Amino acid sequence: MSGLLAGHLAVVTGGASGIGRAIAKGYAEQGAHVVILDMNLEGAGDVGKEILDAGGEAWSFKLDVTDRQQCRDLANQIEEKIGNTSILVNNAGINRRNAFTANADDVIQDWEDIIGINLSGVFNVTHAFVDQLRSTKGRIVNIGSIQSFLHVRTPNSPAYTTSKHGVLGFTKALAAELGKDGVRVNAIGPGLIETPLNENARSNNQELIQTFMDHTLLARTGKPEDVVGPAVFLASDLAAYVTGGIVMADGGYRAI
Ligand code: NAP
Repeated sequence: MSGLLAGHLAVVTGGASGIGRAIAKGYAEQGAHVVILDMNLEGAGDVGKEILDAGGEAWSFKLDVTDRQQCRDLANQIEEKIGNTSILVNNAGINRRNAFTANADDVIQDWEDIIGINLSGVFNVTHAFVDQLRSTKGRIVNIGSIQSFLHVRTPNSPAYTTSKHGVLGFTKALAAELGKDGVRVNAIGPGLIETPLNENARSNNQELIQTFMDHTLLARTGKPEDVVGPAVFLASDLAAYVTGGIVMADGGYRAI
């Protein structure tokens, strides 16, 4: 298949839903062979089937990104059975909004889960695939957030804000270390994108949604497909001299 990503093998975590699903499909449309990893194996399989039905190549596996050994085992299995990964998208993530001063048990559980998935999960998966990515002079795309920078308008999510600041820091640290190996590492900062992640907030927290909209220059919420262009760009040779950066896909939220 031709396309900007022809000849690449792309691994997308959290690829069963929302932004990851859109990126997996967008990469396949650009000619990449795609491996979809997710806790939700059935959803991952559905996305794989959509790609196969459209004439692409896809595989799906169950993965909990918090399980470091499972990440290693799966990376080895993919290398043996499919080939060397050349694009890694660290997308799996969760969000919960509880103030730091809310119920202690809730706040502690949020911290464990959100840091475990959004930040340590990115470490675990990247560590498992780094040898493959070095061998292919690959590309890593980490999904950050507007909360990689801003938090005053969206209080009550200290764990999520910390995790997404960490994702941006990790992106820069790895870009600095892996640049000499020809591996590029970048992030994307989505704004409010309509996915199951924020379904509850969109239904029940109009005040929060209004805060987002008051600062979104394009005056609309984003769709998962709005993140695909930046993700294709960063993974492709169009971005051959781009590393250690973040491309915002936020409708202009960060500009004001
Ligand atoms: P989503 O629709 O909920 O998709 C996230 C996927 O990740 C789900 O399939 C989920 O599976 C999976 N997942 C959760 N925990 C996992 C784990 N431990 N191991 C493997 N997979 C796991 O959310 P989304 O909105 O597309 O979010 C994708 C990324 O974009 C996240 O990193 C999020 O922080 C980031 N982001 C989203 C927005 C937004 O407005 N939507 C904005 C900025 C950044 P289950 O459904 O089974 O839990």
